[in-house]
Amino acid sequence: MKRKDNKEIKDDFEESAKILKRALPMMVQNRIPASPEHYSVWYSYVAKDNLDLVREMDDTVANVGGCSEIKSEILYKKYIASEGEKKLELMKREIETLITDISSNLDDTTRGTDVFQLKLQKSFGKLSNVESGEMSLEETMAVLREVVKSSKEIAKNIDVFSLQLKKADSEINRLKQKIADIQKDANTDGLTNLLNRRAFDLELSHLIMIERPFSVIMGDIDRFKSLNDNYGHLMGDMALKAVAGIFLNSNRDGSSSYRYGGEEFVMLLPDTKMVVARQIAESMRRKVEKLSILSKETGTKINNVTSSFGVAEYQKGDDESELIERADKLLYEAKRLGRNRVMPLSM
Ligand code: GH3
Ligand code: MG
Ligand code: MG
Repeated sequence: MKRKDNKEIKDDFEESAKILKRALPMMVQNRIPASPEHYSVWYSYVAKDNLDLVREMDDTVANVGGCSEIKSEILYKKYIASEGEKKLELMKREIETLITDISSNLDDTTRGTDVFQLKLQKSFGKLSNVESGEMSLEETMAVLREVVKSSKEIAKNIDVFSLQLKKADSEINRLKQKIADIQKDANTDGLTNLLNRRAFDLELSHLIMIERPFSVIMGDIDRFKSLNDNYGHLMGDMALKAVAGIFLNSNRDGSSSYRYGGEEFVMLLPDTKMVVARQIAESMRRKVEKLSILSKETGTKINNVTSSFGVAEYQKGDDESELIERADKLLYEAKRLGRNRVMPLSM
C-alpha cells in the first residue's frame, strides 16, 4: 500500500489551502452559496484541473461580467457530477414527464365523466316528465338513446385511459429497472464485480451510525506490482478477479466484501468478534496462497500469489478513519514482517 509521508501530506494540505484561499473570495464576489457542489466547481476552476471548465467559466465571466449560481450549477453538472448522477438526473426528468402525461390524461377522462354526468342529469330531468304523461313514447325513446350514446362515449374514454395507464405502468417498470441498474453500476466495481469503495464508505458509515458491533478485514495482494511487471497487466487482472472471488465466497452471515482500491480488498463483518474475523482472514490468506491462475491465451501459469491482512474491531466512539487506520496499520505491519500473514497475530 502506498503511504504518503508527512511531508507529502503537508504539501497536499498547503496546496489545497492555497486554492481555497483563492476560490472562496471568488465565490463570495459572485454570490455563490458555499455548498460542496459549488465549492468543487470553483476549486476545480482555480486548480485548473479541467481546462474545459476553466474555458467555459472564463467565457461566461467575459460575456456577462460574472458567474451566476445557476451557471455554477450547470458547470457542476456538466464537468463534475459523476456519470451515475447525470443518468439519475435524466431519469428524474423522464419520470416527471411521465407523471405529467398521466395526470393530463386523467384530467381529460374526468372532464369526460363530468360532461357525461351533466348529460345524464339533464336526461333524468326530462325523464321525470314521463310520469306526468307530458312525454310521448318517441320523446322518451330519444332521451334514452342519448343516455346510451353518452355512456358509450364515456366507456370509450375509460378504455383509452386504461390502455394509457397500462402503457404508463410498463414504462414505470422499465424506468425502475433502469434506476436499479444505474444504482448497481454506481456501487459495483467493473473488473471484479465486487461492491466498490463508494458502497464500502456508505456501509461503514451506516454501521458506525447505528453503533452496531462489527469487525473489518483489510487485505492487500503482496508484491502485485511485480506480478504485473513479470506477467503483464492482463494476468494481473485475472489475479485480482481470483482474489475478489475468494473474498466473495468467504462472505457469511451478512458480511460483505468490497474492492477498496487497486489490489486492496475489505470485508465488513457485522456482529463478528475480532477473533472470528481473524480466522476468516486466515482462511482467505490460505486460499489466496493456493490459487493457480492459468492464462488460456499464453499458457502462463501463476501459483505464487500471496496476500497480507489487517483485522480490526469497531470500538464505540470510533469514527470511520480511526477504525480503518487501525486495520491499515496492522496490514502495514503484516507487510513489514515479511507479507503473507494476518495481523494481529492469533489471540
Ligand atoms: P506490497 O506487497 O507492499 O503491497 O506491494 P505491491 O506491489 O502490491 O504494492 P504497490 O502499491 O506498490 O503496487 C500496487 C500495484 O497494483 C500498482 C498498480 O499498477 C497495480 N494495480 C492497481 N490496480 C490495478 C488493476 O486494476 N489491474 C492491474 N493489473 N493492476 C493494478
Ligand atoms: Mg496496495
Ligand atoms: Mg500490494
